[in-house]
Amino acid sequence: MVRVRIAPSPTGSPHIGTAWQALFDFVFAKKNNGKFILRLEDTDRERYVPESVEQIYETLRWLGLEYNEGPDVGGEFGPYIQSERLDIYKKHANDLLEKGLAYKDEGALRFKIEKAGQTTWHDLVGDKDITFENQTQEDFIILKSDGYPTYNFANVVDDYLMRITHVIRGNEFISSTPKHLMIYQAFGWTPPQFAHLPVLVGSDRSKLSKRHGAKSALEFRSEGFLKESVLNFLSLLGWSHPEGKEVFSIEEMIKLFDFKDVNIASAYFDITKLEWLNGEYIRKMTNEDLTKRLQEFLASHPAKEKIAPVVPLVKERIKKLSDFVPLTDFLFEKPEYDKAQFEKLNIKNVKESLEKILEKLEAMERPWKTEVFEKTFRELAEELGLSASQMFQLIRVAVSGQTVTPPLFESIEILGEEETLKRVAYLIALW
Ligand code: GLU
Repeated sequence: MVRVRIAPSPTGSPHIGTAWQALFDFVFAKKNNGKFILRLEDTDRERYVPESVEQIYETLRWLGLEYNEGPDVGGEFGPYIQSERLDIYKKHANDLLEKGLAYKDEGALRFKIEKAGQTTWHDLVGDKDITFENQTQEDFIILKSDGYPTYNFANVVDDYLMRITHVIRGNEFISSTPKHLMIYQAFGWTPPQFAHLPVLVGSDRSKLSKRHGAKSALEFRSEGFLKESVLNFLSLLGWSHPEGKEVFSIEEMIKLFDFKDVNIASAYFDITKLEWLNGEYIRKMTNEDLTKRLQEFLASHPAKEKIAPVVPLVKERIKKLSDFVPLTDFLFEKPEYDKAQFEKLNIKNVKESLEKILEKLEAMERPWKTEVFEKTFRELAEELGLSASQMFQLIRVAVSGQTVTPPLFESIEILGEEETLKRVAYLIALW
């Protein structure tokens, strides 16, 4: 039975890199009909941030990376929070002390390194042996004077007791792995298999950080990214679809996943790719689905019940759910006009042109029809010595207060004839 775990330390809202590791755990567990476990490694009390516990649950839930065992769902190998397992570590540390494999110094308990020989494991990523000379390792602390274990010790004891079969984690832990293997050996336990995922790097090839657009996973949600595109994007970090596909579901990844397709080379985190993917997913959605997603996302938007007719107009134009708001706000509330928007149009007599526009709109037979609208304002443009695009831009800014909107006539249809007339009249009065 495959059992894998994600073991984040609750030191802040989980980084997108934690979600990335969790995805690989989840996929590997599903692929093998195994179990995915969440364990909180909260033994570093100075860095402990209580709110981050909920944020870890929330991140995994949002992405649909449901765990079979964990602090808030239970399981037969709990507790799944390390600070609730202190007795277990103490007992195991004492076992090593009694066997003479650990010793006390200045208040802490240290593991004694057997300096002769080498420590080797076969890493699933890259399908290769990794070897460390034991003499490069120093005796290390396993139990601190405050009674808390160190990461190295608690991690091994828990992976063993929780029957973890595969440890899938970031590359930065490679240097800890020989220590872990030495602890397994000291206890006479069979170690799990290890898979160290490649390093994530940003656009300048340096280690991924905030300035590359890599934020906490939940920030991606609040910025309007869809969980489907985030998962798809994360799956492409370090793994490639055997047919080279770029857009695919997590179910497809589960079907195809094999560690042999995980690259050892650094994975390049390209935020523009995520934006592109998100736009692809938005366009693939039905209007009904997208409306629902937008309504969830715009939970506190005053007009969220009225957005359905607007959705088809913006579907091609938004990359993130959050793009919906600036693009469509004018449909739900009066715009704030800014003369600078009109200056950009390079029209000499804005006020007179607006007056003519208002006249034509008032005279146009109701309900307004797109062909009549087009023809009327092309003619008016000619009459006023404007290009057609200047004319339509002027109408656009007059009804919306902005230069970029969904298609003009459709927007006006949604806005309604009365509201459109009101806005143009108001603007003239304001001028
Ligand atoms: N607590 C470690 C972390 O924060 C776990 C590393 C591991 O998976 O062994 O990433």
